[in-house]
Amino acid sequence: MEPILEAFVKLGLAVWQHAPDFVDAYFGPPEWKREAQEMGRRPLDALLNEASDLLESINGNQVIETARLDYLEGEARAIHTALRIMVGEKLPHQEQVNGLYSISPKWLEEDIFNEIHIKLNEMLPGEGALIERLEHRRDRMVVNLEENTALVEEIAEELRRRTKASLLLPADESVEIRMVKGAHWGGHNQYLGERRSLIEINLDRPWTAMRLVTLIAHEGYPGHHTERANKELLLVDIKGWLEQTLVLSEAPSGIVSEGIATHAPLFDETLTQWCQNDFFPRLGLGDLDAKHELEIDTALFKLAGVSNNAALMLHKRDASEEKAQAYLQHWGLRDEQSARATIHFIRQTGSYIYTYYMGFELLEALFAITTDRLAWFRRLLCEPVTPRQISRWIDYEFP
Ligand SMILES: [Zn+2]
Repeated sequence: MEPILEAFVKLGLAVWQHAPDFVDAYFGPPEWKREAQEMGRRPLDALLNEASDLLESINGNQVIETARLDYLEGEARAIHTALRIMVGEKLPHQEQVNGLYSISPKWLEEDIFNEIHIKLNEMLPGEGALIERLEHRRDRMVVNLEENTALVEEIAEELRRRTKASLLLPADESVEIRMVKGAHWGGHNQYLGERRSLIEINLDRPWTAMRLVTLIAHEGYPGHHTERANKELLLVDIKGWLEQTLVLSEAPSGIVSEGIATHAPLFDETLTQWCQNDFFPRLGLGDLDAKHELEIDTALFKLAGVSNNAALMLHKRDASEEKAQAYLQHWGLRDEQSARATIHFIRQTGSYIYTYYMGFELLEALFAITTDRLAWFRRLLCEPVTPRQISRWIDYEFP
């Protein structure tokens, strides 16, 4: 094994001792984790020096193959940037995000949101303001999850079957779904290693029948769990690429993961037929047009760009939380509670909010120029693809 690969994982584990949210998942050699825990919080400036040396070695490496090196460089730069922030360096916000994710958030012109509002107005005709019609639609489709826990298992089963049929899924994978309260997110996937995941769903949020399907697709099949399980099997177990066992919370790999997950509900065009013929009728929602409902949810998802602007307002323009919240409510078509939850999420997770829209946008651009969307989806699920690589494919290297 190349020493820089081991150095990368061990450095990530060392930084983790300073910040419990620094690592999203680790399923590599347990003795490396133990070693890092025993060493405790090593001085940050020593770790920063190690990160600089590591980046230099990666850039000078002639042995490791290009795609793997490209992945490693982006992830190592994320560790380096995180350490610069931790030692108190005042990095401009854009530089900070670029260092972490290899990609920068742009301010999105409100015309984009306005167009989505116009589209939603057409898709949801009727009396009253658009936000009221959306609330009415939500109330009609809302599912009582506390009384209906078996429902999510059924959705997961259907999505698992479809993922296996058209994409890729290791035979021994499994997912546990748990309901929680009081989290700062709606849903979350914790990858545990050995092809297992724990998906948590926040019961504080209202879940509609359609949103439950898109949530399980995002967190599970063919989203986060599927990506991790495939990459563990193909890259770690078969190829021995141990750098893939360390999943950083803020890194370029997060852009690709959220890109995969936000596109996950759209991977199978016949999924809405299952909703229409099987799932919705059982909930007394058989009169709804599932395809139409997914289109509405997809349009609503694209308003995630509003959250990026709100984060830029807070981080870069020093706007007040009240102003950012009002912006979210107006352009994001959110009620007060949901807008406040997003502000809270932005404050809790730094730059992570950007990954959803940027990941979605990046893959949308890739899928727009390909005729075989599923083939590309498969590649994303099993290769160490980086945002830089995707941009290169889009810009000038598309096969
Ligand atoms: Zn996600």
